[in-house]
Amino acid sequence: MSRTVWILLQLRDGKLHRMAREAITAGQALATAVGGRASAVIVGHETDAASQEAAAFDLDAVWVADDAKLAAYTPGAFVGTLVQAVRGAEVAPDYLVAPHTYQSVDFVPRLGQQLDAAVVPEAVSFEAADDGMVFRRPIMGGKLQARVRTRGEGLAVVTVQSGAFSASDATAGSADVRALSIDFSTVAADREILGVEQVGGDQVDLSKADIVVAVGRGVGGEDKMQPIHDLAEALGADIGASRPVIDNGWLPRDRQIGSSGQTVAPKLYVAAGISGAIQHLVGMKSASCVVAINKDASAPIFSVAQYGLVGDLHEILPVLTEAVKAAKAS
Ligand SMILES: Cc1cc2nc3c(=O)[nH]c(=O)nc-3n(C[C@H](O)[C@H](O)[C@H](O)COP(=O)(O)OP(=O)(O)OC[C@H]3O[C@@H](n4cnc5c(N)ncnc54)[C@H](O)[C@@H]3O)c2cc1C
Repeated sequence: MSRTVWILLQLRDGKLHRMAREAITAGQALATAVGGRASAVIVGHETDAASQEAAAFDLDAVWVADDAKLAAYTPGAFVGTLVQAVRGAEVAPDYLVAPHTYQSVDFVPRLGQQLDAAVVPEAVSFEAADDGMVFRRPIMGGKLQARVRTRGEGLAVVTVQSGAFSASDATAGSADVRALSIDFSTVAADREILGVEQVGGDQVDLSKADIVVAVGRGVGGEDKMQPIHDLAEALGADIGASRPVIDNGWLPRDRQIGSSGQTVAPKLYVAAGISGAIQHLVGMKSASCVVAINKDASAPIFSVAQYGLVGDLHEILPVLTEAVKAAKAS
């Protein structure tokens, strides 16, 4: 039996979000794996530009729900629209693929509950097995990967992790843009967006840095950051960080590297006290050379490191800093 995959495309400023293109790659690959076809779904307002972008991919159709009620994202209006779309579909989807973003984290559980669907969040890959699709997703901060199989015949909603699928691998083609038949009078926004503010206008741009010294929770606190600053100064590096460092207020938000921070591609990336969760790795995996320092020899960061130093960063970093200074002086 042919399977149907819907790819939910998230928009930013009226255009396809970077991760929407990654979701297209994932959705096309999933459709191939299950022997079916993929279509895109766009939910928003003034969606013409995004629909045309999506129509340039190899998809059965680009289905659009466009209404002023959807101009600003609210989970109520979004879920209300998608529930109608799925229930009213001529051919009901077997899979709904969405990028794993703050937005989908917000609405996918509610959507899954209302449609009685299986939900597989943060998939990084999938494979066809005899008894159905098996999805891989990181657990325990990326230390382990779970293999998850959905059961039963109904819809499965799968969100795909940032960076797990490459946007450039999406297959080009030509698709028709079609309007979804939605009764918007029954769609209600359950929140009022009072305004959206851009924060951090003077953001540090780490994307052009040649050398990054990145610090993780393992540093132990704001008052213990001096060895990081010393090594960065000796190397002439910019300082980056994992998310807990930012969330704890040890460094400003514009220093965050990862799926919800900046993406960097330096020649040298020193990761000190960072475990290597997938959300961090997607932001730095293009670094040419990674030096990881961690007291846990099984930390996932070592799997992407060219050089690994197992031990206490507070003992190792001062030694490295002195070695760099000595090398520069000679
Ligand atoms: C939607 C979403 C988005 C996210 N976005 C991001 C993102 O953009 N960037 C990001 O980084 N994370 C992000 N995260 C969080 C991510 O899942 C991890 O929780 C985070 O990356 C872990 O940070 P960490 O490695 O610093 O901390 P931990 O996972 O706590 O690791 C600390 C590491 O330090 C080591 N350590 C402890 N003490 C020492 C010492 N003295 N010397 C040496 N090593 C030591 C430990 O062995 C451990 O490996 C996101 C999560 C979600 C759900």
